[in-house]
Amino acid sequence: MLNLAVILRESATVRPDAPALMSDRGIVTYAELDARSDAVAAGLAGRGAGPGTAIALQLPNIPEFPIAYYGILKTGATVVPLNVLLRAPEVAYQLADSGARALITWSGSVAEAAKGAAEAGLGDLYLVGADDHAARPFDELTTPVTGQFPLCDREPGDTAAIVYTSGTTGVPKGAELTHFQLYMNADIPGRLFEVRPDDVVLTALPLFHVFGMSSAMNVALRFGAAMSLVPRFSAERVLAAIERDHATVFDGVPTMFIALLAAAGTSDHDTSSLRVCVSGGDAIPAHVLDAFERQFGVPILEGYGMTETAATITFNSSAQDRRVYSVGRPVWGVEVQVWDADGRRLPPGRAHIGELVTRGYHTMHGYRGHAAATADAFRGGWFHTGDLGYQDTDGFLYIVDRQKDLIIRGGYNVYPREVEEVLYRHPDVAEAAVVGIPDERLGQEVKAFVVPRPGCFPTARQIIAYTRERLAAYKCPRLVEFRDTLPLTAAGKVVKKALV
Ligand code: ATP
Ligand code: MG
Repeated sequence: MLNLAVILRESATVRPDAPALMSDRGIVTYAELDARSDAVAAGLAGRGAGPGTAIALQLPNIPEFPIAYYGILKTGATVVPLNVLLRAPEVAYQLADSGARALITWSGSVAEAAKGAAEAGLGDLYLVGADDHAARPFDELTTPVTGQFPLCDREPGDTAAIVYTSGTTGVPKGAELTHFQLYMNADIPGRLFEVRPDDVVLTALPLFHVFGMSSAMNVALRFGAAMSLVPRFSAERVLAAIERDHATVFDGVPTMFIALLAAAGTSDHDTSSLRVCVSGGDAIPAHVLDAFERQFGVPILEGYGMTETAATITFNSSAQDRRVYSVGRPVWGVEVQVWDADGRRLPPGRAHIGELVTRGYHTMHGYRGHAAATADAFRGGWFHTGDLGYQDTDGFLYIVDRQKDLIIRGGYNVYPREVEEVLYRHPDVAEAAVVGIPDERLGQEVKAFVVPRPGCFPTARQIIAYTRERLAAYKCPRLVEFRDTLPLTAAGKVVKKALV
C-alpha cells in the first residue's frame, strides 16, 4: 500500500521543526505543512473527496500549492495541476478531460478559471487569497484535525495525479501518473544528486509542470530538504532568493540558465551557497553550460525527462562522469532503446539516429480518456518519446531533436539543435531558435530566430556567414529574424510552433 503523501508524513515525523517551505511569506516547518495539508484533506474528505475523485489545483509557487497538493493526495483523490496561464476554454477542456470535481485557484487566474469552470459545468471553485464573488474562500476547504489525518491506502498502480504536458507541440495531453511512479521519481533522482535534509532546493519552475512538481518538490520532501519557492521566474528574483534562503540546489530549464548568466554581471547577490544545478526540459547549449559553470562555480547536471515519465529518464549524475551534449544514462530501473521507424532496435553510434523508446516503473498509466493515443504511445510495449537520438557504447544518450522539429530541406535532414548550438557560440547572440518553414522548391527552408545580446546589432548576413564557416551549407539558415524575446511556455521552454 502506498500513498505518495507518505514522503511528507515521514519527513514531518522525523524532522517536525525543520523548514519545509521558504518564501517571501516566511518559513513553514514540516510539522506545519503536514498539519495544514491534513486540514485540507479533512475538509475535502468531508465534501466527498476520496479514491476516484479528481481535484484541480491552479496555483503559482506559493505555500498553498504543496499544502493543497498533499492534502488532496492524503484523501486518496487525484490531483490535477493546471497551468496558471490557461484561458477559459483551456480550463474548461482540462477540467472536463480530467473529470475534476472542484478547482482550487488564486486571484491571478480566477477570471479565466471562473469562466472555464462555468463552461465545464463545475460548481466548486475555491480561491486562495483575495475574496472574489465567483469563488469560495480556500479556508472553507479546511477542517481542523485532532491527531493526524490517516493517509488513504492506495495501490502503487493507482493514479495519484493527472499532469498535462507542456503543449510545446500541440494540445497538452493529460498523463495519468501513479503513486509508485511519482514516489520513485522523487526517490531515484534525489539520490542521484544526493539531496540531504540540510539542502534548500530553489524552484522557480512552476509546480504545476512535472519538472518542478517531481524533480524539485517531491524530491525535496522525500529527503526532508527545504524548498524555496519563487512564484514567477525572473533572474533577479531567483538570485535574491538564493541569497535570502541560502539555496543549495537550483532546478531550471535552459532559458533560466541563460537569463541568470546574463544577469550575473550586474547583480551582486551572494550565490556561494549553491552546490549543484539541474537542467532539463530542453537541450542546454554546451556553450551556455560552460559559461554558467565558470561564472557561478557550480556544476549543472543535465537530465532528460517528460511528463509521461514523471519525469526523469536519463541523468548525468556527476560533473566528473558526463559527456558533452549527452543527457546522461538511464536512471536506475529505466531502460532506453533507439528504434528505427519499423520498430527495430538500432545499434549504438552517432550514425544510428532513431526514436528513443523507454520502459520501466517510470512510465505513466496512460493519457486519461484517450485509449487510442495511449496505445499508440506504448507500441510494442515501449513508451515512444517522440524524441530522436542515439546512444554511445557506454550507454550515454544524445538527443538530436524532437521528431516534430526535424527539418527536411531538399531531402536532407537538418536538426535544429545542431544549428542552435552554433548560433549560441556567436558573441552577439543571447538566444536562438531554428525552425523549418515551408518552401516550394525544397519542401522546407531553415530559418533562425535570434535574440541579440543587449547593445549588439548583428546583421542577418553576419549570422549566416558565421554558420557557413561551421556547418555544411544545407544546414545553414537562409533567413534570420531578430526578436526581442522568444515565445516561452509557462515552464520557460521555447514554443517553436509559435514561430513557424
Ligand atoms: P507536448 O508533449 O505537449 O508537446 P512537451 O513535450 O514539451 O509538450 P514536456 O513533457 O514538458 O512536454 O516535455 C518533454 C519533452 O521535453 C521531451 O520529450 C523532450 O523533447 C524535451 N526535453 C526534456 N529534457 C530534455 C533535454 N535534457 N534535452 C533535450 N530535450 C529535452
Ligand atoms: Mg511531449
